[in-house]
Amino acid sequence: MRKPTRRTETGRGERVLRGVWRLRLPLPWAGVPHCNAWALARGDGIVLVDCGMDTRGSLRDLERALEQVGFALADVRLLICTHAHLDHCGQAASVQARSGCELWLHPRHEHLTASLDDRDAALARRIEIARQSGVPEAPLARWAEDRKEQSSGMSGPLEVARDLLPGVVVETDAGAWQVYETPGHAPSHVVLHQPERRLMISGDHLLGRISLYFDHGWTPDPVQEFLDSLDVVDGLDVRLTLSGHGRPFTDLRGHVDGNRALVRERLDAVLGALRDRGEATAFDLLPGVYGDKLMPETAAWLLTKMLCYLEHLEATGSVQRAGADPVRWSAT
Ligand SMILES: [Zn+2]
Ligand SMILES: [Zn+2]
Repeated sequence: MRKPTRRTETGRGERVLRGVWRLRLPLPWAGVPHCNAWALARGDGIVLVDCGMDTRGSLRDLERALEQVGFALADVRLLICTHAHLDHCGQAASVQARSGCELWLHPRHEHLTASLDDRDAALARRIEIARQSGVPEAPLARWAEDRKEQSSGMSGPLEVARDLLPGVVVETDAGAWQVYETPGHAPSHVVLHQPERRLMISGDHLLGRISLYFDHGWTPDPVQEFLDSLDVVDGLDVRLTLSGHGRPFTDLRGHVDGNRALVRERLDAVLGALRDRGEATAFDLLPGVYGDKLMPETAAWLLTKMLCYLEHLEATGSVQRAGADPVRWSAT
């Protein structure tokens, strides 16, 4: 999770294609200023794909974005979430309360919902993982203090009416959308594909600007899952991709290749840093791999990714654990 910053923008809506609108919603996160929800025409209303994070004024932002394209929250007939991250499902309960719609979401959402059920236990677990990764006590204590003061980002519990799995079809005026599982960024991640109009709603699996993130600790090898999910979307016929952040883009193959290359670059950098140092904790490796991207606001997020890279390299036999408490790593 990124540290909150002050929001300066408001929600905005714009037409992308006939029956398809982009709703650009502000986020309170450093380096991630907004996310996209998508409104898809269906009869006299819309299917809403993703809905933004719950923060002060966030429901008004969503309303404003909808108003700009001629809709209201009461027009939402169905809410689909591409994955269970706060910026994609945080306002689900509010949207449902205002519209009476169902929520469809992939069943592997425990990476979010388990920590919402017991926030203290989830925070304690994260602190222990950070300590085991070599994070020094003073910055860790500051981070934990900040986290305690943050709101959950959720407007209420998730009430899922239907598991969003392959075979489920999302009917809209722009045609029927098929569901593809794309874990890696998050275990619950799916993309939606509309084959006749050659459209894909990619959530955070592929973004307008190439940027990686993997949830750590819920599956054995999120990096490998992400690479496998790139193969899944690479096989789809798509002329326009509607992503969870950034502008829609036409060059799907370029984005897939760019993501593969960045994963390879990061894995090589982690391995190179370990070879240079002999032995290191995950935290020790951050400056060498991320350089000036490493800041107090981004450290927790980068550490999560570092752990995923190390565990992927461990699974492929390139690194090993060289000591415990904190865990030290070395190249094989
Ligand atoms: Zn996400
Ligand atoms: Zn996102």
